[in-house]
Amino acid sequence: MTHSASHLTYLLLCHRKLWLHHRQIRMEDNSSDVAAGKLLDRTTYQRRAKKWTQLSLGHLKIDHFDARERVVKETKKSPKLEHVHVAQLKYYLYALERRGVAGVTGLLEYPAQRRTTVIELTSADRAVTIPGWEAEIDRIVGLPVCPEAIQKTYCKNCAFHDFCYI
Ligand code: SF4
Repeated sequence: MTHSASHLTYLLLCHRKLWLHHRQIRMEDNSSDVAAGKLLDRTTYQRRAKKWTQLSLGHLKIDHFDARERVVKETKKSPKLEHVHVAQLKYYLYALERRGVAGVTGLLEYPAQRRTTVIELTSADRAVTIPGWEAEIDRIVGLPVCPEAIQKTYCKNCAFHDFCYI
């Protein structure tokens, strides 16, 4: 099965959301945070925007790819879910490698914190961690019933909040 970046994000955040998303059940999220994040992405790094192109790998869309320097960049508003952001970038690098594009580096940028981290794949990522994520995604989306709500603090910002709790 082809996995999207959303599949991976929801695997790490909420199995219920992963299950719903896989069945193409969507609820609109018009929160100001989402809008602000998109605006931040468009404006903060505008000066450097020219070298970045969007790259589509089937279900996987990479917003910022620099083919000449072999860099993939993700810009995030806050490092609150940094482990998810790191995983997302690693998954991009892995997907590129699987398609024969090796030696790509990830850049994880938090403009508000003025922080940039270099992300690279390790052999453990290739052999164990990422295949493990994929197997777990397949297991969860194949469950016959929707997983239970998880009662986490980020539920209040989730588009499914009312669906899960009201
Ligand atoms: S509201 Fe919470 S439990 Fe429901 S889908 Fe969102 S993150 Fe998961």
